[in-house]
Amino acid sequence: MSSNGSKDKPWLAITLASVLLVFTIFSRPSLAEWYGETQPHMGTEISVYLWHDDPELGPEAVAAVFTEVARLDRLMSTYIEDSRISEINRDAATRPVEAGDELFGLILRSLDIAVLTRGAFDITYDSVGQHYDFREGRRPDEDTMAEELPLIDYRLVETNRGDGTVSFLQPGVRINLGGIAKGYAVERGVVVLQSLGVRHARVTAGGDTRLLGDRRGQPWMVGIRDPRDEDTVAVTIPLEHEAISTSGDYERFFEEDGERYHHIIVPSTGAPAGEVHSSTIIGPDAVLTDALSTSVFVMGVDQGLRLIATLPDYEGIVIDADGKMFYSDGLRSPD
Ligand code: ADP
Ligand code: MG
Repeated sequence: MSSNGSKDKPWLAITLASVLLVFTIFSRPSLAEWYGETQPHMGTEISVYLWHDDPELGPEAVAAVFTEVARLDRLMSTYIEDSRISEINRDAATRPVEAGDELFGLILRSLDIAVLTRGAFDITYDSVGQHYDFREGRRPDEDTMAEELPLIDYRLVETNRGDGTVSFLQPGVRINLGGIAKGYAVERGVVVLQSLGVRHARVTAGGDTRLLGDRRGQPWMVGIRDPRDEDTVAVTIPLEHEAISTSGDYERFFEEDGERYHHIIVPSTGAPAGEVHSSTIIGPDAVLTDALSTSVFVMGVDQGLRLIATLPDYEGIVIDADGKMFYSDGLRSPD
């Protein structure tokens, strides 16, 4: 006797298969739907938008991303007094502070990107950066600038891989992950979604977006706004499985005597970068697109796009102070 009874009774197998087919068609109508939500976190708006066919899992997956983002904010925000990064800023000049694997890893990546960008990206920018208040229209005076500028130097951050600690080589140094943490958050958001079985999603934190899969057979369309007109889209880019980050001088700024003071700081001068109005980087990893969009903003059109040309898989679009748009080689039509 065969262990598989259907071999002896083919009609049974056919009947079972038909029942199963009917069951599949009628008992599981396609419930696939879009689920999405926007919430304020990390000093910006976070939005999650995903496609799923389980009406319970869809909203749960959206909520799970916000839980993850809130966890990262508690770890990495310099505005939260008992965050680990605040502890580092308070104590790392007097004792090595344990960062924990995740924060330690992101600090190491930030320091690597500082080397890659020859210091254009520098998490110690905050030694001066802390004295800007864009809401209140406040900026560091000359004395403060003279005192703090020497403390912008990523080489003053010492990392010990053996015990995962961070030390500062001078008192007064401060680090701030504002130029990379949102990219990390959207990257983590996508990991959370994937672990729950989501295959199509868009996770955005301010100017940083990570796309999972496509938009149900179509590419996602991501717009880059005109830096001087928030209602006008300068260019729209179709993307799948990719990250895109834009840094602009319109996010956080105030004006004084006709001059715009905004939140992206040139580490060598302590002043806001003036050469471009926005820089956008596209590539596989949102951590890098985030840090590079800030870096290219600081470096300007020529130097910035030259750096992007050395990075396989990464492309850039820069809008300069005259509103002119520049593309990296990979985005230009072959002619
Ligand atoms: P947004 O925060 O609007 O998404 P960015 O990704 O360009 O924009 O990041 C800007 C943030 O990066 C600033 O608010 C600040 O926290 C941080 N930052 C500013 N200048 C630098 C710099 N030279 N290197 C690293 N981080 C910087
Ligand atoms: Mg950035």
